[in-house]
Amino acid sequence: MDIFRRSLLLNAAVMAAYSALPLRTGHAADFNYQLKASRIADNTYAVIGKLEYFTGHNGGAVVNTAFIETSDGVIVIDTGPSKRYGEQLKKLIRETTGKEIVRVYNTHFHPDHCFGNQLFDVKQIAALPKTISGLKESGEGFSDNFYRLLGDWMRGTELTIPGLPITFSSEKFGDHRLELIALSGHTDADLAILDHKTGVLFAGDLCFLDRTPTTPHADLSQWQASLAQLKKVPHKIILPGHGIADPTDRSIEQTSDYLNWLEKSLIEQARQGKDMIEAAKLEIPQKFEKLKLIKAEIERSVAHLYPKIEQNVLPVISPGGR
Ligand SMILES: [Zn+2]
Repeated sequence: MDIFRRSLLLNAAVMAAYSALPLRTGHAADFNYQLKASRIADNTYAVIGKLEYFTGHNGGAVVNTAFIETSDGVIVIDTGPSKRYGEQLKKLIRETTGKEIVRVYNTHFHPDHCFGNQLFDVKQIAALPKTISGLKESGEGFSDNFYRLLGDWMRGTELTIPGLPITFSSEKFGDHRLELIALSGHTDADLAILDHKTGVLFAGDLCFLDRTPTTPHADLSQWQASLAQLKKVPHKIILPGHGIADPTDRSIEQTSDYLNWLEKSLIEQARQGKDMIEAAKLEIPQKFEKLKLIKAEIERSVAHLYPKIEQNVLPVISPGGR
């Protein structure tokens, strides 16, 4: 841990002592995420995250992770937001399967999906090459941000870069053949994984269900193209990055529908010359009203997407007036 992070944790402790208030670091003094394995298919378990933003109460456990038990050992998909999460996930895997871990995949470089990495053998952690380069570039910044948001839940967490770039399109463990599908749009590199044995499609954050999609590194047209591709992949059930397991493709349709509405609405706001604050005041269609965090995510998405949309919509005036 560097000095900056140590001082963040120390400052939080000092502030709490002076104000005689408990640290805003969750209900449990023992920092127990209370992870539960839900069986979603044969030998396949999901650990479903809360549909919330990262806070000192939830410790960042707002993401789905998963594991598959095979005769060769256990495959882990994403490792969660912190060292503590990684430890607790590993314990859950041991208790559920009793087997060694043979492979870990990071679906993309967002910190809620890969900051539990340090608990696993780095040589076994596989990710797309652009996920690896993205983490090298932005990982420390993500880490500082998470220390600020999550406080002591992050204690001891160190950025751990995956050691195995995915330059192959499938792997087999026991009788589980996994197809590794390299896509993009939510970020520069989004890995989807299809287990041919069970028909489970692990979609990472290309799919959200009943939780508003996040867009800090999004390319919306790429994202839509990836969703169209996922729809064609023969699968029985989808595990989205956020939201419960989905046997009906609702996560693909809802994510696509929302992103389409968001983009069209923001283009219209730009055409009307609205500034960023005005642009965020969108009338939310009834079908999206129940998506968790929709108002906050629209505000964040305006900050991420609106400058480029404005640039594309506004007429270009050359300096010489020509
Ligand atoms: Zn993400």
